[in-house]
Amino acid sequence: MSTVYGPVPSWRFGRSLGIDVVVPPKTCSFNCIYCQLGRTKVKLSNPAEFKNYVTTNDVERDLEKYLADIDVNSIDVVTFSGSGEPTLNPDIGDIVECVRRLTSGKVPIVLLTNSSLLYRDDIRRKVARFDVVVAKLDAGDEKTYRIINRPIKDAPDIEAIKESIEKLKKEMNGRLMTQTMFLYTDFDFTNCEGEPLTNLMNALVDIEPDTIQIDTPYRPGGEKFLKPASVDELRTIAKRFEDFMEKMNVHSELWVFGVHDKRGRKVAWKEHVSVSDEIMELLKRRPCRIVDIADSIGISYSETLKSIKNLLQKSLIIKRISSNGEKYYYPV
Ligand code: SF4
Repeated sequence: MSTVYGPVPSWRFGRSLGIDVVVPPKTCSFNCIYCQLGRTKVKLSNPAEFKNYVTTNDVERDLEKYLADIDVNSIDVVTFSGSGEPTLNPDIGDIVECVRRLTSGKVPIVLLTNSSLLYRDDIRRKVARFDVVVAKLDAGDEKTYRIINRPIKDAPDIEAIKESIEKLKKEMNGRLMTQTMFLYTDFDFTNCEGEPLTNLMNALVDIEPDTIQIDTPYRPGGEKFLKPASVDELRTIAKRFEDFMEKMNVHSELWVFGVHDKRGRKVAWKEHVSVSDEIMELLKRRPCRIVDIADSIGISYSETLKSIKNLLQKSLIIKRISSNGEKYYYPV
């Protein structure tokens, strides 16, 4: 399986070329209730125990091949994400330098991390090499953290995570962003209001990231008891943040799902070896709508529809409907 995928459409960053430094099976220190990759298969919190991890050579080989097929000027960012927690890869510091060299420093390099290893000085030193770090913070208190992220046994507690994100902000030269998934559940728990929201606002004001991303698990997947927040609910939460930040004299920018949207621009491909294979590679890492696939692969809507029908007939993919009625395609 290639360690490079996409480019995937991202509401936050636009056309995002993915680097997967974990690759399946999903390996993570969390088992989040909303994870679109399903439940965590390999539970790990120590990079030294990571067996058969992706090496710098693997990424170099795959990225060189990819850059021969797509126009690098039609990518907005390169994002380290994929099949688990990227900071578990012991080579991540070298890999980011390799990606910077191959893209000639033209494209910002983004890391999506669950923040669970940032308490370690050695990991923060590697992470500080990225242009943008998006640190997950779904909770400001231990109870909410345990319900949403379901950390594995050796993962740090929420206080250590909050402190480590604050430390990283002081140490890095790039931009620090946080991402919070706001959600509801069938068992009367939510982080959209009450104490969980107040604790989150306090934590984020202490960190004062450059950008606070207000997100929700809008794609189907994750646990059945989960319900995403609506865009109106996210706007209400954003207003609470704005008022609180003004009171506390904090100046983080807010990006709100459904309001800020950088999707919708096509990637320019120089050539296609196999459109079906490219669609399959994309969907293995990111469930997508038809329009997302058309933009990512750089082909027309009608051509995409034809390929999707073909893949459905062969039972290689399935369709699921999101809470707002949109059709997403998943690999079987
Ligand atoms: S941290 Fe990311 S990969 Fe790990 S379980 Fe949560 S959402 Fe999934």
